[in-house]
Amino acid sequence: MRLYNSLSKEIEEFVPLNPPKVGMYACGMTVYDYAHIGHGRKYVGDDILRRTLVVFGYNVTHIQNVTDVGHLVSDADEGEDKLEKGAKKHGKTVWEVAKYFENHFFVTMDSLNVLRPSVICRATEHIAQQIELVLKLIEKKYAYVTPEAVYFDVEKFPEYGKAFAGQTLTEKKTAVRSEVQTGIHKKNPADFALWFKRVGRFENHVMYWESPWGEGFPGWHVECSAMSMKYLGEQFDIHTGGEDHLTVHHPNEIAQSEAATGKHPFVKYWVHHAFLKVDNKKMSKSLGNFVTIEDVIEKGHSPLALRYLFLTAHYRDPLNFTWDSLGAAQVALDKLKNATNSLKGDPVRQNLSSEKLTKIDGFRTEFRDSLANDLSTPKALAVVWKVFKSNIPNADKFDLIEEFDEVLGLNLTERTVINIPAEISELAQKRETLRKESKYNEADALRAQIEEKGYSVIDTANGIRISARNKAT
Ligand code: AMP
Ligand code: ZN
Repeated sequence: MRLYNSLSKEIEEFVPLNPPKVGMYACGMTVYDYAHIGHGRKYVGDDILRRTLVVFGYNVTHIQNVTDVGHLVSDADEGEDKLEKGAKKHGKTVWEVAKYFENHFFVTMDSLNVLRPSVICRATEHIAQQIELVLKLIEKKYAYVTPEAVYFDVEKFPEYGKAFAGQTLTEKKTAVRSEVQTGIHKKNPADFALWFKRVGRFENHVMYWESPWGEGFPGWHVECSAMSMKYLGEQFDIHTGGEDHLTVHHPNEIAQSEAATGKHPFVKYWVHHAFLKVDNKKMSKSLGNFVTIEDVIEKGHSPLALRYLFLTAHYRDPLNFTWDSLGAAQVALDKLKNATNSLKGDPVRQNLSSEKLTKIDGFRTEFRDSLANDLSTPKALAVVWKVFKSNIPNADKFDLIEEFDEVLGLNLTERTVINIPAEISELAQKRETLRKESKYNEADALRAQIEEKGYSVIDTANGIRISARNKAT
C-alpha cells in the first residue's frame, strides 16, 4: 500500500513499525459547537484509511481525542477558550457543552458509517499525562515557566517548524506577532503554551486543575502528544488531521513529543485531509457557514449520499459543497443500491469460464489497487460501476460489491429504497410541470402538500427525487 506522507511530501510505500499492527491517531473535534459535514468529510477520510488497512490485513488501533479544554480561538494561543465561548453562545456550562457536542459529533459520524475509534480519549480525563509531559520538557530544558504560563522554547529545538510546510522560524514569528502582547513573558513569539496558569486573562477560567505551577489548564497541542503516546507508544505509524493542522498544531506536536522522548520520528506517516468548502471558503464553526447532518436529512437526503459525495473526490483535493452535487450523489447512490438489490434474486452459481474468472480477479485487483494507491476512492467507485456493466454472472457481481462495500461503507446491499405511493409521484410530477411553466407559487403549494403527507421532493441535476422524510439512511 502506498500513502502520501506530508513529512516527505511524497507518496511512500506504507511499512508499519510493527506489522501487522498499525497505530493510528486522529485529531478529534473541539466540542464547543455542532459537528458539521466538513468534519464528516475529514472523518470519512480516516474511516476509508482504516477500513483499507483492515482489508489489507493490518490490525489497526485507532485512537481519537476529544478536545474538551484548552483550545483557544486562535491555534496560536490567542483569544478566549473555545469551550467558554461555546458555553456562552449556547447558554450551557462548559461541561454540558462538551458533553452535548461530543455526543452530537459521534451521532453524526455514526450516520455516515464512520466506525467508532478503538479508544476515544478526552483531554479533561488525561490531565495527569499532560502534566507529566510538561514536567519532562521543563526537566530537559525545552520548556520554561513564566508568571502566566509554561511555554515550549522553540529555540531549543532546532528542527522546530521545519516539518510540513518548510516554514522557517522567521515566518512563524511574523505569523504570531500579535500574540507578543498576551504572552508578555515569552522569550520568543513562536513559543507556545503547554500550560496556562489561572491568572490574568484566565483568572476566572472555569475548567482548571491543580498542577506544580498552581491552578490552571493545559494548552491545546499538548493533549494530542500526551494521549497519542499513552495509547500508541512514543513512536507510532499514522497521525491524521485536517490541512489546517500543517502550520501550527502538528509542528508543535512533533516538537514537544520528540523533545520529550528524544526519539525521531514521533510519527512515521502524516496524513492530512483537504477541506470541504462552501463558496470556496472552508466550512467552519467559526465562519458560521456550516451545514449539519440534520440539515442534510431535513432536505430529504441520506447521510450515506453525503458519504458517496465525499468518495467522489480524492481526500487531498478540496471539495466544494453544493446541494446540487449532493442531490446528484443521492441519485447515483440510489441507482447503485437498486442495482445491487436486483442482483440478490439470482443465487445461481454458474460454472465460470476462465475468461469470466479472470475478469472477476481483474476487478478485485483494480479496486484494491485504487485504494492501495493513496486511497483513490474516485477510482474505486468507478470500478464498482464497471462491475455492474460487465457480463459476469449476477451472483458474482453481488459478491464483489459486498466485498468492496467493506471499505466503501455505503450499505450497498441493504434494501432501503422505498416504494413511493402513486399519489405522491403524481403530485411531484404536477409540481414539476408547474415549475417548468414558472408557476412557482402553485408548485410550492404542491411541495407543501407532499411534505404534509410525509415525503419530500428534491430537485437535482438529474431530475427530481422523492423520499420519505427522515426515513433516509
Ligand atoms: P475542529 O473541531 O475544528 O478542531 O476540527 C476537527 C477536525 O476536523 C480537524 O482535523 C479539522 O481540520 C477538521 N475539519 C474542520 N473543518 C473541516 C472542513 N470544512 N473540511 C474538512 N475538515 C475539517
Ligand atoms: Zn491534535
